[in-house]
Amino acid sequence: MPPRLLEVTDVTVVGGGPAGAASAIRLAQLGHRVVLVERAERGRPHVGESLPPTVLPLLQTLGVGERVEAARFLRPRGAIVQWDGVLRDVRDDARDEPGFQVDRGRFDALLLDAACACGVTLLQPVAAAEPQRDGGAWTVPLRDRRVVRSRVVVDARGRRSMAGSQPATVALYAYWRDVNHIDPRTRVEASRDAWYWGAPLPDGPFNATVFIDAARCAGLPRAQRALLYRELLAESTLLRKLLNESSPDEVQVCDASVRTESEPAPDGLLRVGEAAFTIDALSSQGVQAALRSGIQAAVCAHTMLQRPSSAALAHRFHAEQATRTARHHAQLAQGFYAAAARHHGSAFWQARVDAGIAPRVTTESRAWPALDAMLTVDSRVRWTCVPALDGEWIALRDAIDHPSLDGPAIDAVALADPSCRAAAAVEPHPWRRACLCAAREAVASGARWPGRVVKRRRLCRLEFLAAFAVARRDALDRAPLPRASAL
Ligand SMILES: Cc1cc2nc3c(=O)[nH]c(=O)nc-3n(C[C@H](O)[C@H](O)[C@H](O)COP(=O)(O)OP(=O)(O)OC[C@H]3O[C@@H](n4cnc5c(N)ncnc54)[C@H](O)[C@@H]3O)c2cc1C
Repeated sequence: MPPRLLEVTDVTVVGGGPAGAASAIRLAQLGHRVVLVERAERGRPHVGESLPPTVLPLLQTLGVGERVEAARFLRPRGAIVQWDGVLRDVRDDARDEPGFQVDRGRFDALLLDAACACGVTLLQPVAAAEPQRDGGAWTVPLRDRRVVRSRVVVDARGRRSMAGSQPATVALYAYWRDVNHIDPRTRVEASRDAWYWGAPLPDGPFNATVFIDAARCAGLPRAQRALLYRELLAESTLLRKLLNESSPDEVQVCDASVRTESEPAPDGLLRVGEAAFTIDALSSQGVQAALRSGIQAAVCAHTMLQRPSSAALAHRFHAEQATRTARHHAQLAQGFYAAAARHHGSAFWQARVDAGIAPRVTTESRAWPALDAMLTVDSRVRWTCVPALDGEWIALRDAIDHPSLDGPAIDAVALADPSCRAAAAVEPHPWRRACLCAAREAVASGARWPGRVVKRRRLCRLEFLAAFAVARRDALDRAPLPRASAL
């Protein structure tokens, strides 16, 4: 029987997790027709329940911040951590917003409802088969024989097998009932050959997860897997006592390896969220990274559809952002692996340290413009040109690069501009705040950079000064927010 054409649309989004929903919402906000295909029933249970407060600006960009805040998810501040033998009570700054502990079924459904409210056509539950190139367009066959045709496809199908240098890791987890806890905060603990994550969830259950080498439970029948899970939990200091009196639902297993897609995506196909890269669950930032990548991909698709001459630029931006984000999170995780390796001295942690991190994206250098006499530049600072978010588009932007940055520092410009709606979608850099403060102070104190770039765009001055501050990273190390005049 021939397939039945369902709909011709601008963009097909395959997968309705946070990455797919974010892409669909942002694309609809930008005026595009979107079909989103999700194979699971509404309210699909899922891991990934702890969201840091920094997720809020992204939710606000999508117009769902208030709805998430009103959804009665838990709002813990900080975490209880025992990583290198010392018990730490990590408290967030009381002035900051707390994070969330969500029920992912409800959270994901809330995002899909918001997508529908923006005009997205949601097909659920129906599985999509592999997207196929069809002339200048894409077709996505659905398992029920229907077909969606569009110019761009956003692949948001979540985890699948990808190559990577980090050891294969799995998570064994279960939801425990009647856990007697007073403190709603997340518990994180490292042991010799595993690490633990536990947190209460809205409406009662407690998720206790153990992360181990995949080889330890490969091929184990269900009953033995449950036994291994219980044995591992019995070795945990933070979770053992807490779970003593209660009982778990079925023990489940899922892949938790750190991976990045290395195959370049074909034209018109954008992989987002865990379809593009997976980060260590340690950071609890997977959902945030998925939302950000979904929002960025929407701007890329918008550029491809409305400015075909910039399509290649949008593709390049999308690929570079995935590499950069994965690298940024790998760097953060390395610090934790190294601390655990020092304390526990085991092969489990050493293998994760030894796997290292991927090299950074390289950029082409441009000639320096004339500089203000009062400024000196670190010889490793380079002026370059990269594809970047520019409001609702991907466009070529001037940027500053330096080995101590994750990549070219275009983001300082985007973030410094309050009118840039996409600013929240830019990956935060740990040095950005310090750099911006230093840059702002320098500008306020009259520093000038009278080059042609400044005439073209006021904010380039900030960008340059931010890079200048980064170049003096040693000084920033000693005093986190120095006066620019002291640099
Ligand atoms: C053990 C573990 C713990 C974690 N803990 C945290 C945490 O505390 N905090 C955090 O932020 N992140 C955490 N993460 C990461 C987080 O779960 C993911 O980063 C996040 O879910 C990624 O979102 P996504 O939209 O890319 O993919 P997903 O959430 O996996 O969504 C993919 C969607 O695509 C659908 N789909 C797949 N194939 C098809 C198809 N063929 N047709 C149609 N639909 C399809 C699926 O049904 C699914 O709804 C954790 C991950 C693991 C493994």
